[in-house]
Amino acid sequence: MIRSEILAHLEKIVGKDFVSDKTEDLFIYSQDPGASLPRPVDFVVLPITVEEIQNIVRLANEVKIPIVPMGGGLTLSGLTIPIKGGIVIDMKRMDKILEINEISRYALIEAGVTTGRLTAYLENHYPDLQVSIPDAPPSATVTANALIHGSGFLSQMYGNHGDMINGLEVVLPNGEVCKLGSCCVSDYWFSRGPIPDLIGLFISSFGTMGIATKMAIKLYPKDNVREVVVGIFSAPKMIPEVISKITHTDIAEDIVFAVSEGLFKGYIFLATFITGNSEEDIGSKIKILKRIYRKAKGNYMKIPEGFRNYFLEKPIFISSEADVRKGGGFEYVGSFMPLEKIPEAIEKAIEISRKYGISPSQVSRVIGKGHNVMFASSFSFNRADPNDMENARNALHETDKLVLDLGGIIWKPELAGQKFIIEKMDPSYKKLYKTIRSALDPNRIMNPGNWEIT
Ligand SMILES: Cc1cc2nc3c(=O)[nH]c(=O)nc-3n(C[C@H](O)[C@H](O)[C@H](O)COP(=O)(O)OP(=O)(O)OC[C@H]3O[C@@H](n4cnc5c(N)ncnc54)[C@H](O)[C@@H]3O)c2cc1C
Repeated sequence: MIRSEILAHLEKIVGKDFVSDKTEDLFIYSQDPGASLPRPVDFVVLPITVEEIQNIVRLANEVKIPIVPMGGGLTLSGLTIPIKGGIVIDMKRMDKILEINEISRYALIEAGVTTGRLTAYLENHYPDLQVSIPDAPPSATVTANALIHGSGFLSQMYGNHGDMINGLEVVLPNGEVCKLGSCCVSDYWFSRGPIPDLIGLFISSFGTMGIATKMAIKLYPKDNVREVVVGIFSAPKMIPEVISKITHTDIAEDIVFAVSEGLFKGYIFLATFITGNSEEDIGSKIKILKRIYRKAKGNYMKIPEGFRNYFLEKPIFISSEADVRKGGGFEYVGSFMPLEKIPEAIEKAIEISRKYGISPSQVSRVIGKGHNVMFASSFSFNRADPNDMENARNALHETDKLVLDLGGIIWKPELAGQKFIIEKMDPSYKKLYKTIRSALDPNRIMNPGNWEIT
């Protein structure tokens, strides 16, 4: 089928206003704010129903054209820029909040619902409930973020966002709709089990297994008061112990630590967020934290009042700080890292930043009471300068390798990072993955080029 025929078919499926093959419309879909080079896109479609997505997938199978699902397109690692061209399915219009179950505490949403929209909806209608959101711009989607193993301000207590998924509705690569989790047996989207858990197949697979159309995500009770208690530490080796002590007390909502060349050069800045239902409650938690900081040979730091709100904002201020170089480019290597490897990760990632002449900038978050740390090292660059972008890419790749050398795993890896992971992967895992993918997607239409295991 030639291009104009595919366009005509897509127009028939979603309507003329919601498909385009025009260069000016495709421009933003061919790149993202990260360091990946732009790649060509053939079409963009904006479906509004599950049936429309099914028809797009059937058409893609017929003409063997790749499809790439996209939420906010904000991973920074180029995950929604097609690798082999094709159709980008922009989920923006599928933005209905279908149900809030206050008792079993979950939200059932369409896949295009953004973190900003769900947060605002809960604040307005269910002020006692909250959803964990990433520190990404609020146009990131709840579904894509959970599907990439994302994390946010409640992840210290409750784990990665992927763990918070109760159920999914997906369009499979053959165009069939499938429900996963308790919703495939019950009217309630309250649990993943107790049946074989297939939801994991769709997490961190970057749209290669199907397109999620609905998701149920866990909600959590919200306390009235929130506070942040900051400690300053002079050496990375102090960090595992202090985190281990804090998580042992069970009082922290969120724990974030940062290294930068700014105000606290040479120090590690650790912020523990606490919540409670009275000032007294908060006061006693602050005392415990001050004691832990002191014992770990750190210093408690009182945050100037003007800065306090800045810290307590959700998403945290990272978005406004990302473009420090004022060149419009920002990407980071995020990783899942064992807590005991954090000191080495901090020191070696600083060395890499300096080697490439980029100011060290690391912001990391403790996940699941210390079971894992989301360690991240950022690189900003000037998008208008190809050499500066190339330099950032090299720094990112070297940091990718560092993560793997330390026993961590690169999170939402860009193409190079995916290749590094695959090189280290156990052959039996590769074989199983290949078998499942080939069975689900024999025509290789689902975001091909990602997780290319040969
Ligand atoms: C300043 C900044 C701070 C950030 N901080 C955080 C943070 O604290 N925590 C965090 O987790 N992330 C963070 N991020 C990374 C990223 O922005 C988020 O993870 C974001 O939520 C990704 O969501 P998205 O809608 O943009 O996903 P997209 O980029 O649109 O998609 C991500 C992946 O999911 C696939 N996908 C999208 N929709 C579907 C679907 N319906 N079905 C199947 N597959 C699909 C895509 O093909 C792609 O592979 C940050 C980013 C920035 C720029």
